[in-house]
Amino acid sequence: MSSEAVSATSAPEVAYPAPVSLGALWPWAIFALALLLLVYFVAVDEGAASVVPGMSLHEWVHDGRHLLGFPCH
Ligand SMILES: [Zn+2]
Repeated sequence: MSSEAVSATSAPEVAYPAPVSLGALWPWAIFALALLLLVYFVAVDEGAASVVPGMSLHEWVHDGRHLLGFPCH
C-alpha cells in the first residue's frame, strides 16, 4: 500500500481574478449610475419626494412604473 505524503507547504493554488484598472472600470461605473438614476426616476420620484417638478417625468416613466409594480395613483 502506497501512501502519498502531502506537504504542508504546498497549499492549493487559488485563482484570483485579474486586477481591474480604473480605465476599464469607469464606463461600468457610469452605466451603473445611469441605471440607478433610471430606477430612482421610475420607482421613487413622485409626489412630495419628486426632484423634477411637474408631471412630465411621471408621464414618461408611468408605464414602466406600472410594469414593475410600483404604485403611483
Ligand atoms: Zn399610474
